Amino acid sequence: MEKTESQHRNDIIDICKRIHANGWVASNDGNVSIRIGPNTVLCTPTGLSKGYITSDQLIKVNLDGQKIEGFLQPSSEIKMHLDVYKNKETINAVVHAHPPFATGFAVAGVPLDECVMPEIIIGLGSIPLTKFGTPSTMEIPENIRPYLKEYNVFLLENHGALSIGEDVYKAYYRMESLELFAKINFIARLIGKVNVLNEEEVKKVIKVREQFGLDTENYPGCRIDGKVIKSANDLASSFASQTNKEEMKYSFSSNKTVSQKQNDEKLILTRDMLVEVITTVVKNVLSNINILSNVK
Ligand SMILES: [Zn+2]
Repeated sequence: MEKTESQHRNDIIDICKRIHANGWVASNDGNVSIRIGPNTVLCTPTGLSKGYITSDQLIKVNLDGQKIEGFLQPSSEIKMHLDVYKNKETINAVVHAHPPFATGFAVAGVPLDECVMPEIIIGLGSIPLTKFGTPSTMEIPENIRPYLKEYNVFLLENHGALSIGEDVYKAYYRMESLELFAKINFIARLIGKVNVLNEEEVKKVIKVREQFGLDTENYPGCRIDGKVIKSANDLASSFASQTNKEEMKYSFSSNKTVSQKQNDEKLILTRDMLVEVITTVVKNVLSNINILSNVK
Protein backbone atom coordinates (compact mmCIF):
# COMPACT_ATOMS: atom_id res chain seq x y z
CA MET A 1 0.00 0.00 0.00
CA GLU A 2 1.20 3.51 -0.83
CA LYS A 3 2.51 5.40 2.16
CA THR A 4 0.90 8.70 3.19
CA GLU A 5 2.88 11.94 3.17
CA SER A 6 2.96 11.90 6.94
CA GLN A 7 4.50 8.39 6.90
CA HIS A 8 7.13 9.59 4.40
CA ARG A 9 7.90 12.52 6.71
CA ASN A 10 8.38 10.13 9.64
CA ASP A 11 10.62 7.87 7.52
CA ILE A 12 12.90 10.78 6.61
CA ILE A 13 13.17 11.82 10.27
CA ASP A 14 13.94 8.21 11.25
CA ILE A 15 16.76 8.01 8.65
CA CYS A 16 18.12 11.43 9.69
CA LYS A 17 18.36 10.28 13.32
CA ARG A 18 20.07 7.06 12.24
CA ILE A 19 22.73 8.79 10.13
CA HIS A 20 23.37 11.26 12.95
CA ALA A 21 23.56 8.50 15.59
CA ASN A 22 25.92 6.51 13.34
CA GLY A 23 28.33 9.46 13.22
CA TRP A 24 27.95 9.84 9.46
CA VAL A 25 27.31 13.60 9.67
CA ALA A 26 28.56 16.58 11.68
CA SER A 27 26.77 19.85 12.23
CA ASN A 28 24.35 20.40 9.31
CA ASP A 29 25.87 17.79 6.98
CA GLY A 30 23.89 15.32 4.95
CA ASN A 31 20.49 15.30 3.32
CA VAL A 32 17.65 12.85 2.71
CA SER A 33 14.82 12.99 0.20
CA ILE A 34 11.85 10.95 -1.03
CA ARG A 35 10.01 11.36 -4.35
CA ILE A 36 6.37 11.49 -3.18
CA GLY A 37 4.76 12.48 -6.51
CA PRO A 38 5.63 12.75 -10.22
CA ASN A 39 7.02 16.28 -9.67
CA THR A 40 7.20 16.48 -5.88
CA VAL A 41 10.13 15.68 -3.63
CA LEU A 42 10.03 15.78 0.15
CA CYS A 43 13.47 16.67 1.56
CA THR A 44 15.53 17.94 4.45
CA PRO A 45 16.18 21.71 4.40
CA THR A 46 19.53 23.45 4.65
CA GLY A 47 21.10 24.48 7.94
CA LEU A 48 19.76 21.88 10.37
CA SER A 49 21.41 19.07 12.32
CA LYS A 50 20.00 15.72 11.24
CA GLY A 51 19.98 14.64 14.88
CA TYR A 52 17.39 17.22 15.94
CA ILE A 53 15.26 17.76 12.84
CA THR A 54 11.46 17.45 13.13
CA SER A 55 8.94 16.39 10.50
CA ASP A 56 7.35 19.87 10.20
CA GLN A 57 10.77 21.28 9.19
CA LEU A 58 10.90 19.16 6.02
CA ILE A 59 10.18 20.97 2.78
CA LYS A 60 8.73 20.09 -0.61
CA VAL A 61 10.36 21.02 -3.91
CA ASN A 62 9.61 20.25 -7.55
CA LEU A 63 12.10 18.45 -9.84
CA ASP A 64 13.52 21.84 -10.88
CA GLY A 65 14.38 22.58 -7.25
CA GLN A 66 11.74 25.26 -6.70
CA LYS A 67 10.21 25.23 -3.24
CA ILE A 68 6.54 24.20 -3.14
CA GLU A 69 6.01 24.07 0.60
CA GLY A 70 7.86 24.71 3.86
CA PHE A 71 9.31 27.64 5.78
CA LEU A 72 13.01 26.70 5.44
CA GLN A 73 15.23 26.72 2.34
CA PRO A 74 16.27 23.66 0.26
CA SER A 75 19.80 22.35 0.69
CA SER A 76 22.30 23.31 -2.02
CA GLU A 77 23.02 19.57 -2.34
CA ILE A 78 19.40 18.89 -3.41
CA LYS A 79 20.61 19.19 -7.03
CA MET A 80 22.20 15.75 -6.95
CA HIS A 81 18.98 14.26 -5.50
CA LEU A 82 16.83 15.82 -8.23
CA ASP A 83 19.20 14.74 -10.99
CA VAL A 84 18.93 11.15 -9.77
CA TYR A 85 15.11 11.31 -9.87
CA LYS A 86 15.17 12.84 -13.37
CA ASN A 87 17.52 10.19 -14.73
CA LYS A 88 16.45 7.00 -12.94
CA GLU A 89 12.72 6.33 -12.85
CA THR A 90 12.91 3.36 -10.46
CA ILE A 91 14.50 5.44 -7.71
CA ASN A 92 12.30 7.15 -5.13
CA ALA A 93 14.74 8.01 -2.34
CA VAL A 94 18.24 9.45 -1.97
CA VAL A 95 20.50 9.57 1.08
CA HIS A 96 23.67 11.69 1.26
CA ALA A 97 26.08 11.63 4.19
CA HIS A 98 29.79 11.67 5.06
CA PRO A 99 30.29 8.23 6.68
CA PRO A 100 33.93 8.34 7.82
CA PHE A 101 35.30 5.05 6.46
CA ALA A 102 33.61 5.40 3.08
CA THR A 103 34.56 9.08 2.93
CA GLY A 104 38.15 8.11 3.84
CA PHE A 105 38.28 6.04 0.65
CA ALA A 106 36.65 8.93 -1.28
CA VAL A 107 39.34 11.30 0.04
CA ALA A 108 42.09 8.81 -0.75
CA GLY A 109 40.67 8.50 -4.27
CA VAL A 110 40.20 4.74 -3.95
CA PRO A 111 36.99 3.15 -5.33
CA LEU A 112 35.61 0.07 -3.56
CA ASP A 113 35.29 -1.94 -6.73
CA GLU A 114 37.21 -5.17 -6.10
CA CYS A 115 35.50 -8.56 -5.75
CA VAL A 116 36.10 -9.07 -2.04
CA MET A 117 32.91 -9.91 -0.12
CA PRO A 118 29.92 -11.96 -1.32
CA GLU A 119 27.32 -9.70 0.36
CA ILE A 120 28.62 -6.67 -1.52
CA ILE A 121 28.91 -8.55 -4.83
CA ILE A 122 25.31 -9.71 -4.45
CA GLY A 123 23.79 -6.50 -3.11
CA LEU A 124 25.76 -3.72 -4.79
CA GLY A 125 28.28 -5.22 -7.21
CA SER A 126 30.80 -2.54 -6.37
CA ILE A 127 31.09 1.13 -5.43
CA PRO A 128 32.58 3.60 -7.92
CA LEU A 129 34.43 6.82 -7.18
CA THR A 130 32.75 9.75 -8.93
CA LYS A 131 34.89 12.73 -9.89
CA PHE A 132 35.14 15.72 -7.55
CA GLY A 133 32.59 18.47 -8.10
CA THR A 134 32.27 21.93 -6.56
CA PRO A 135 29.54 21.89 -3.88
CA SER A 136 26.20 23.46 -4.86
CA THR A 137 27.04 23.42 -8.61
CA MET A 138 25.83 20.97 -11.26
CA GLU A 139 29.32 19.43 -11.34
CA ILE A 140 28.45 16.81 -8.71
CA PRO A 141 25.23 15.54 -10.39
CA GLU A 142 26.96 15.57 -13.78
CA ASN A 143 29.81 13.46 -12.42
CA ILE A 144 27.39 10.96 -10.83
CA ARG A 145 25.13 10.63 -13.89
CA PRO A 146 27.33 8.29 -15.97
CA TYR A 147 27.22 5.73 -13.13
CA LEU A 148 23.47 5.93 -12.46
CA LYS A 149 22.38 3.16 -14.80
CA GLU A 150 24.30 0.39 -13.05
CA TYR A 151 25.13 1.62 -9.55
CA ASN A 152 23.05 2.45 -6.47
CA VAL A 153 25.86 3.63 -4.17
CA PHE A 154 28.61 6.13 -4.97
CA LEU A 155 31.75 7.51 -3.37
CA LEU A 156 31.95 11.26 -4.07
CA GLU A 157 35.60 12.20 -4.43
CA ASN A 158 36.91 14.35 -1.53
CA HIS A 159 33.35 14.73 -0.24
CA GLY A 160 31.26 11.76 0.99
CA ALA A 161 28.82 9.13 -0.17
CA LEU A 162 25.47 8.91 -1.92
CA SER A 163 23.02 6.03 -1.94
CA ILE A 164 19.76 5.66 -3.82
CA GLY A 165 16.84 3.25 -3.57
CA GLU A 166 13.35 2.30 -4.58
CA ASP A 167 12.40 3.49 -1.09
CA VAL A 168 14.25 5.38 1.63
CA TYR A 169 15.10 2.29 3.71
CA LYS A 170 16.70 0.57 0.71
CA ALA A 171 18.80 3.68 0.11
CA TYR A 172 19.73 3.84 3.81
CA TYR A 173 20.68 0.14 4.05
CA ARG A 174 22.86 0.49 0.95
CA MET A 175 24.74 3.28 2.73
CA GLU A 176 25.10 1.01 5.80
CA SER A 177 26.50 -1.76 3.59
CA LEU A 178 28.93 0.67 1.98
CA GLU A 179 30.19 1.98 5.32
CA LEU A 180 30.68 -1.48 6.83
CA PHE A 181 32.44 -2.67 3.65
CA ALA A 182 34.70 0.40 3.74
CA LYS A 183 35.49 -0.28 7.41
CA ILE A 184 36.31 -3.94 6.73
CA ASN A 185 38.48 -2.95 3.76
CA PHE A 186 40.28 -0.43 5.93
CA ILE A 187 40.98 -3.05 8.62
CA ALA A 188 42.19 -5.60 6.03
CA ARG A 189 44.51 -2.96 4.58
CA LEU A 190 45.84 -2.22 8.08
CA ILE A 191 46.51 -5.94 8.55
CA GLY A 192 48.30 -5.69 5.24
CA LYS A 193 46.36 -7.95 2.90
CA VAL A 194 43.15 -7.83 0.88
CA ASN A 195 42.45 -11.17 -0.77
CA VAL A 196 40.37 -10.70 -3.90
CA LEU A 197 38.15 -13.68 -4.81
CA ASN A 198 39.06 -15.55 -7.98
CA GLU A 199 36.93 -15.51 -11.12
CA GLU A 200 35.28 -18.85 -10.50
CA GLU A 201 34.34 -17.89 -6.93
CA VAL A 202 32.92 -14.56 -8.10
CA LYS A 203 30.90 -16.22 -10.84
CA LYS A 204 29.38 -18.61 -8.31
CA VAL A 205 28.41 -15.66 -6.10
CA ILE A 206 26.89 -13.83 -9.08
CA LYS A 207 25.01 -17.03 -9.94
CA VAL A 208 23.43 -16.92 -6.46
CA ARG A 209 22.50 -13.30 -7.14
CA GLU A 210 20.90 -14.25 -10.43
CA GLN A 211 18.96 -17.03 -8.68
CA PHE A 212 17.58 -14.38 -6.30
CA GLY A 213 16.02 -12.79 -9.39
CA LEU A 214 17.93 -9.52 -8.97
CA ASP A 215 18.37 -7.14 -11.92
CA THR A 216 21.14 -8.52 -14.13
CA GLU A 217 20.86 -5.92 -16.89
CA ASN A 218 21.79 -2.89 -14.82
CA TYR A 219 24.45 -4.49 -12.65
CA PRO A 220 28.00 -3.16 -12.41
CA GLY A 221 29.72 -6.35 -11.24
CA CYS A 222 33.11 -6.08 -9.56
CA ARG A 223 36.76 -6.08 -10.54
CA ILE A 224 39.53 -8.68 -10.38
CA ASP A 225 42.75 -6.91 -11.41
CA GLY A 226 41.85 -5.28 -14.74
CA LYS A 227 38.81 -7.46 -15.47
CA VAL A 228 35.22 -6.61 -14.49
CA ILE A 229 33.01 -9.65 -13.83
CA LYS A 230 29.32 -8.88 -14.34
CA SER A 231 27.74 -12.20 -15.12
CA ALA A 232 27.99 -15.83 -14.10
CA ASN A 233 28.24 -16.59 -17.81
CA ASP A 234 31.13 -14.25 -18.58
CA LEU A 235 33.73 -16.98 -18.66
CA ALA A 236 31.53 -19.52 -20.45
CA SER A 237 30.57 -17.05 -23.19
CA SER A 238 34.10 -15.76 -23.81
CA PHE A 239 35.29 -19.37 -23.89
CA ALA A 240 32.53 -20.37 -26.31
CA SER A 241 33.41 -17.62 -28.77
CA GLN A 242 37.08 -18.48 -28.50
CA THR A 243 36.34 -22.17 -29.12
CA ASN A 244 34.21 -21.38 -32.15
CA LYS A 245 36.97 -19.25 -33.59
CA GLU A 246 39.56 -21.97 -33.08
CA GLU A 247 37.28 -24.60 -34.55
CA MET A 248 36.60 -22.54 -37.64
CA LYS A 249 40.23 -21.69 -38.12
CA TYR A 250 41.56 -25.18 -37.81
CA SER A 251 38.53 -27.23 -38.93
CA PHE A 252 38.66 -29.69 -36.07
CA SER A 253 36.72 -32.84 -36.80
CA SER A 254 33.50 -33.20 -34.83
CA ASN A 255 34.54 -36.06 -32.51
CA LYS A 256 37.36 -34.00 -31.02
CA THR A 257 36.74 -31.77 -28.07
CA VAL A 258 38.34 -28.60 -26.86
CA SER A 259 38.28 -28.13 -23.14
CA GLN A 260 39.41 -25.38 -20.87
CA LYS A 261 40.87 -25.03 -17.42
CA GLN A 262 38.43 -22.67 -15.76
CA ASN A 263 40.95 -20.55 -13.86
CA ASP A 264 43.55 -19.50 -16.37
CA GLU A 265 41.62 -19.60 -19.66
CA LYS A 266 44.18 -21.90 -21.32
CA LEU A 267 43.02 -24.23 -24.06
CA ILE A 268 43.90 -27.87 -23.54
CA LEU A 269 44.58 -29.75 -26.77
CA THR A 270 45.26 -33.44 -27.30
CA ARG A 271 48.44 -34.44 -29.18
CA ASP A 272 46.35 -35.25 -32.31
CA MET A 273 44.66 -31.87 -32.21
CA LEU A 274 47.97 -30.06 -31.81
CA VAL A 275 49.43 -31.97 -34.77
CA GLU A 276 46.34 -31.04 -36.78
CA VAL A 277 46.66 -27.36 -35.84
CA ILE A 278 50.34 -27.25 -36.79
CA THR A 279 49.71 -29.15 -40.04
CA THR A 280 46.88 -26.79 -41.00
CA VAL A 281 48.99 -23.71 -40.25
CA VAL A 282 51.96 -25.06 -42.20
CA LYS A 283 49.70 -25.98 -45.14
CA ASN A 284 48.19 -22.47 -45.09
CA VAL A 285 51.62 -20.86 -45.01
CA LEU A 286 52.84 -23.08 -47.86
CA SER A 287 49.78 -22.42 -50.00
CA ASN A 288 50.21 -18.66 -49.41
CA ILE A 289 53.82 -18.92 -50.56
CA ASN A 290 52.60 -20.79 -53.67
CA ILE A 291 50.00 -18.10 -54.36
CA LEU A 292 52.62 -15.40 -53.97
CA SER A 293 55.10 -17.19 -56.23
CA ASN A 294 52.34 -17.68 -58.83
CA VAL A 295 51.54 -13.97 -58.71
CA LYS A 296 55.18 -13.22 -59.40
ZN1 LIG B 1 27.90 16.58 1.56
